[in-house]
Amino acid sequence: MSVDKLKKKEDNTLTATLNMMKQSVELSELSNDVYEHLKTPMRFVEVAIPVEMDNGSTKVFTGYRCQHNNVFGPYKGGLRYHPDVTTESIKALSMWMTLKCSLVGVPFGGAKGAIVCDPAKLSMKEKERMTRSYVGALGSILGPETDIPAPDVATDAQVMAWIADEYSNLMRVPSFGVVTGKPLAVGGCVGRTEATGRGCFFVTREAAKATGMTLQESRIAIQGFGNVGGNAALLFAEAGIPVVAISDVSGGVYNDKGLDVYSLIDHVEKTGFVKGFNGGEEITNQELLTIDCDVLIPAALENQLNGTNADQVRAKIVVEGANGPTTPEADHILKEKNILVVPDILSNSGGVTVSYFEWVQNNYGFRWDLETVNRRLEEKMSEAFNLVYSFFCERCLGSDMRTGAYRYSIQRLAEAMQYRGWLRNGTFR
Ligand code: NAD
Repeated sequence: MSVDKLKKKEDNTLTATLNMMKQSVELSELSNDVYEHLKTPMRFVEVAIPVEMDNGSTKVFTGYRCQHNNVFGPYKGGLRYHPDVTTESIKALSMWMTLKCSLVGVPFGGAKGAIVCDPAKLSMKEKERMTRSYVGALGSILGPETDIPAPDVATDAQVMAWIADEYSNLMRVPSFGVVTGKPLAVGGCVGRTEATGRGCFFVTREAAKATGMTLQESRIAIQGFGNVGGNAALLFAEAGIPVVAISDVSGGVYNDKGLDVYSLIDHVEKTGFVKGFNGGEEITNQELLTIDCDVLIPAALENQLNGTNADQVRAKIVVEGANGPTTPEADHILKEKNILVVPDILSNSGGVTVSYFEWVQNNYGFRWDLETVNRRLEEKMSEAFNLVYSFFCERCLGSDMRTGAYRYSIQRLAEAMQYRGWLRNGTFR
């Protein structure tokens, strides 16, 4: 895809987010000042990231940090290394973080950061120097009480450890709470890696209960077999719930009786991809989205369910593991087909929830065990789903669950804005 086309697509993502926020403010009859606060990030910083390359030359990358809103607490959001990052996409992603934290009730604001680069073309040493240079450029606006990055596309626990180290050097005091998603050895939290997939699993279970579906007899299809999709698939398999279709960037595989997820993991570990797995019939990514199943979990990329395929979706429930996998046009079509879409800001909030647990443990200098982390995650996700679902049923009939989630989240944000004195003309219009 050309850069222009990609930018246009991402512009649409930002526009769609702004439209959803504006509409939610109006439907809830909140003061327009609420939208005024939400439509523009509180701070957007672009910095030069000079990096000494392995061959001795210097390359200057572009870095961003978007701090969208901090009415609830420190800004929070991932750091992405990707060549196609745009200012618009980073703004939209930071807004989703604000909405997500509000919805799930963690005391963080929303943020997102990025470096425009192709991580596949960097050596480990170059990646380390680039990460440390990012902290050098932006360290003054980061901090455990200010803005806390986490892993996102192409960044992981190692990158978080470099940030924690560089920031601690800058502050002259060990300050590992500046990031979450760290390795356990430097203050990470057990269960953080699997948390988003686990959260999707809990949300699917609650959605099935709410709609009278027997999860144990349901057939699951998952697009994306990475952190989110892979961990979700494993949890369904462990619970004895058949995962009938899985795909990754290479293509997909389908087995009417349920895939052997453990063997598929072995296959991917050996070959790198889902393609070529002999435990089922080969399908394309497009076929996966419209396959005969009860629950569809898009857990790969944005805009996967769109005007061209939404009318062929056969699932009864869509649980958005990825950020932004459904376009507004697809949302409309799925609603007409009576398919419940559990929106991303709810269904993939397990990651930020356990990031919050990590931050709390760092602040208090103690550790929870895995059972405690998973139990607290389960409580948070079940509570968030049921609050939003009840709100949607009682207040948003005729609309979709995304609208319910946006309205619920923005009402909470408006209440906090009102108490902090940000709404001079009152909360409501
Ligand atoms: P990942 O890189 O670990 O996995 C992505 C998966 O998607 C891979 O299996 C990849 O092969 C597959 N994929 C890529 N292109 C595809 C295509 N065209 N069709 C089908 N599959 C394709 O990433 P992840 O961390 O699992 O993130 C996936 C999504 O979930 C992203 O939208 C991310 O923003 C979102 N998300 C992740 C987290 C988290 O904690 N990791 C939290 C919230 C939201």
